[in-house]
Amino acid sequence: MIDVLIVGAGPAGSVMAKEMASRGFETLVVEKRQEIGAPKRCAEGVSGHGFEKLGIKVNPLSIARKIKGAILYAPSGKAVTMEGHGMEGFVLERKVFEKDLASQAIKAGAKYMVKSLAIGMEKHGNAWRVRVRTIEGIKEIEAKLVIGADGVESKVGKWAGLKTVNRITDYHSGIQFEMAGVNASYDYIHLFFGREVAPLGYAWIFPKAFSANVGLGILEKAAKMRAYDYLKKFIEEHEEIFKNAQPIEINAGGVPVAHFTKMVADGVMLVGDAAQLVNPIHGGGITRAIHSSIMAAEVAEKALKSGDLSKEKLQEYEKMWEAEYGEKTKKLMKLRSFLEKLEDKDFELLADILQGEDIYQLTQAKLSFLIKKLITKPSLLGLAKKYLMD
Ligand SMILES: Cc1cc2nc3c(=O)[nH]c(=O)nc-3n(C[C@H](O)[C@H](O)[C@H](O)COP(=O)(O)OP(=O)(O)OC[C@H]3O[C@@H](n4cnc5c(N)ncnc54)[C@H](O)[C@@H]3O)c2cc1C
Repeated sequence: MIDVLIVGAGPAGSVMAKEMASRGFETLVVEKRQEIGAPKRCAEGVSGHGFEKLGIKVNPLSIARKIKGAILYAPSGKAVTMEGHGMEGFVLERKVFEKDLASQAIKAGAKYMVKSLAIGMEKHGNAWRVRVRTIEGIKEIEAKLVIGADGVESKVGKWAGLKTVNRITDYHSGIQFEMAGVNASYDYIHLFFGREVAPLGYAWIFPKAFSANVGLGILEKAAKMRAYDYLKKFIEEHEEIFKNAQPIEINAGGVPVAHFTKMVADGVMLVGDAAQLVNPIHGGGITRAIHSSIMAAEVAEKALKSGDLSKEKLQEYEKMWEAEYGEKTKKLMKLRSFLEKLEDKDFELLADILQGEDIYQLTQAKLSFLIKKLITKPSLLGLAKKYLMD
């Protein structure tokens, strides 16, 4: 019987592993992939500000490129640049970043098993018995606490009886090429908006050391074709950027853009994408995944020490999350509802009146100033009042 079994060695799983092992708990991580960090399902962008707030120092080897900010493009091509304090960030090399996080956990005493797929779990007395398919056959591992860090397709929550599947409209479909030979400024990330570009989502170019992640996320309900077709079209329509570019990797994945609130069951906690904790506006989830594990570990330590791993005891983690992110997430969901109503002509209007700093404030869930800014744009003012006001 071990103390903690963590399913999944993404950012959430490895940070949880480090937190628990460094507190002296016997911790094991099982990861289904044969290589931690690969293949990535991510554009790899993070804000420096978000990591700073959590006190995370990124190993320079994990950073593919430092960026000064973002350039946002309306459908006509009109650009708004966001740069300055708080808007800097990194594009990571996730294959290195995730291995670095795993190395830190191992240094703290955690054990890892790769190419090991959790296939089910049952309650056994006060513990969970988790079945894992490994290279050596099926193993049964008993743990006092199971952490579901198994990403957007999480099974752990389901096995524990939690309702973990949202409405289909709460998932975005993401598709991406990593491309070499992209001709764009490598100092910024680039975000492209418009119904014909990426319905109810956006397209992106995130520059790396020698290449760039070029992708998009769409809401399938609003789409006329597959995400892949939109991406091909986006590349074809930006000849000056992609004339000499070729794909060196292809990635696809779902992004859960709405959070559900039940993150714990008896002896079980969900962290990161398994609890659908991504930012509902831009779909970034790395920072929130790491933060959720830091919070969950604080609660798990107390629960393990007291011998009480009941749902009621573990719910303190849900409360901590709600206190930190609840209000902000609600506001960002409102902003998302507003943005989802916009036509291409509305994006042009917004590009006319919003500066980079304004857009940054919106991403920080500061919404009320937008109403004042829209006074001269009656068509948008009505929508903003309907969706953004309390
Ligand atoms: C196209 C796309 C682009 C994105 N771009 C960004 C971005 O630029 N910035 C950002 O911050 N976020 C981005 N995200 C979101 C980000 O990738 C996730 O929020 C983040 O990876 C969450 O970390 P996690 O550890 O919770 O889950 P994951 O990173 O998904 O890790 C889950 C791990 O669990 C393993 N696993 C799953 N099931 C089992 C099982 N049964 N047994 C054993 N192991 C299992 C998986 O193999 C995986 O390693 C993007 C997502 C997509 C799809």
